Amino acid sequence: MTPFELFDIDHLLSEEERAIRDVVRDYVERRIKPEVGDWFETGEIPARELARELGELGVLGMHLQGYGCQGTSAVAYGLACLELEAGDSGIRSLVSVQGSLAMYAIHAFGSEEQKQQWLPGMAAGELIGCFGLTEPDFGSNPAGMLTNAKRDGGDWVLNGTKMWITNGNVADVAVVWARTDEGIRGFVVPTDTPGFTANPIHKKLSLRASVTSELVLEDVRLPADAVLPEVTGLRGPLSCLNEARFGIVFGTLGAARDCLQTAIDYSVSREQFDKPIAGFQLTQKKLADMSLELGKGMLLALHLGRLKDEHLIRPEQVSVGKLNNAREALAIARECRGILGGNGITLEYPVIRHMNNLESVYTYEGTNEMHTLVVGQALTGIAAYR
Ligand SMILES: Cc1cc2nc3c(=O)[nH]c(=O)nc-3n(C[C@H](O)[C@H](O)[C@H](O)COP(=O)(O)OP(=O)(O)OC[C@H]3O[C@@H](n4cnc5c(N)ncnc54)[C@H](O)[C@@H]3O)c2cc1C
Repeated sequence: MTPFELFDIDHLLSEEERAIRDVVRDYVERRIKPEVGDWFETGEIPARELARELGELGVLGMHLQGYGCQGTSAVAYGLACLELEAGDSGIRSLVSVQGSLAMYAIHAFGSEEQKQQWLPGMAAGELIGCFGLTEPDFGSNPAGMLTNAKRDGGDWVLNGTKMWITNGNVADVAVVWARTDEGIRGFVVPTDTPGFTANPIHKKLSLRASVTSELVLEDVRLPADAVLPEVTGLRGPLSCLNEARFGIVFGTLGAARDCLQTAIDYSVSREQFDKPIAGFQLTQKKLADMSLELGKGMLLALHLGRLKDEHLIRPEQVSVGKLNNAREALAIARECRGILGGNGITLEYPVIRHMNNLESVYTYEGTNEMHTLVVGQALTGIAAYR
C-alpha cells in the first residue's frame, strides 16, 4: 500500500482531476525521470524543448481562463504541480514561474494588447517568461527594491539588478517590478530590449535542473504601454507570489512522495542482519511517521485547493500550506536519504536530488521564517517581521 492509498486520497478527487493527474504523471515517468539525474549532474536542461512539451501537455498557465489556457480548477493545477515535482522541483519551477508568476501577472494586471501579445505563445510553450522581483539586497523585504523606472517623454527607462530569477537566461519576456514616482509598478520587458542582460548563476547545489539568473537592466527603454496598467504597489507582485505558493503547497508533496516511495521500496529489498531493513522497528517508525506527514500535507493541500476553487482562500492560509508542506517535505527527504544509507548520496536514486532541491523551495516564494511570521501575525495581530 502506498502512503496516499493509506489515506484513500483518490476518494477525494473527481474523475477529471484524476485524469489530469494521470496524464502529467505519465509524462513525468516517460520524459523527466529517466533524464533528470543527468540534467541535475550537468546543470543543464533542454528548457526550450521542455517548455514546448509542457505547453502541449497543457500545464502552462493551466488554471487561467482564455488566451490558449486550459482554465482548469485550482486543485487540478495543484495535482499537476505535485506530479511535476515528483520528477524534479526544477521542472515544477519552470512551470510555476511561467504560469503563476509571469503569465498570471499579465493575465491579472495586463492590458488586452499585452494579453493577446504574450499569453497564447506562453501557454503553448513557444515563449518563456520570467519574473523579476528579488534583488541582491532585497529578498524577504522586496518593498526596499532599488530597481527603478523613470518616465522620459512617452517612454519608461529602467535601471537595476534582479537576483535569483528562475528561467532568466532562457526567457523571451521578463515581468520586472520597479520603483516609480507612483509606487511599485510591473513592466513587461522583451528580453531582446537593448540594455537587458541575463547572467546565469553557477555553482548551485540545489535546483540544478533549473535555470537561475541575475538580470541586469541598464537604461532599458520601453514604450509607455509596457507597464502593467491594472496594478500599483506591492499588491501586484505579492498576489502573483500567492498563486505560485499555492502550487508549491502541492508540489513539495510530489518530491516527498517520490522520496518516501523510493525509501519504502529500498527498505523492503535491502537486507542487513539477514532481514530486510524494513523489518526493523526503527525503520517502520520512520516510514509510518513520514506517511502520516505526507498524508496530512495532502489533506491540507486539498482543503486549500477547494477553498481556492470557491474563491475563499486567504493569503495567510496559503502561508500555512507553504510553511507546513515545504518544511515536512524537506524533513521527509532527509529521513529517506538516511534510510538509503550510502546509496542515498548518489544520483542513482532521486532522494538527495529532491532533498537538495527542497532547500531552495524552503527559501523561495517566502522563506520558512517569513511564512511563520505571517501566521504569527494572523494569530496575534502583531507584525513581528518589521
Ligand atoms: C533557486 C531560486 C530561485 C528563485 N527564483 C526567483 C524568481 O524567479 N523570481 C524572484 O523574484 N525571486 C526568486 N528567488 C528569490 C527568493 O524568493 C529569495 O531568495 C527569498 O525571498 C529570500 O530572499 P533572500 O535570499 O534575499 O534571503 P534574505 O531575505 O536575506 O533572508 C535570509 C534569512 O534571513 C531570514 N529573515 C529575513 N527577514 C527576516 C525577518 N524579518 N524575521 C526573521 N527572519 C528573517 C530569512 O527567513 C532567511 O532565513 C529564487 C531563489 C532561489 C534560491
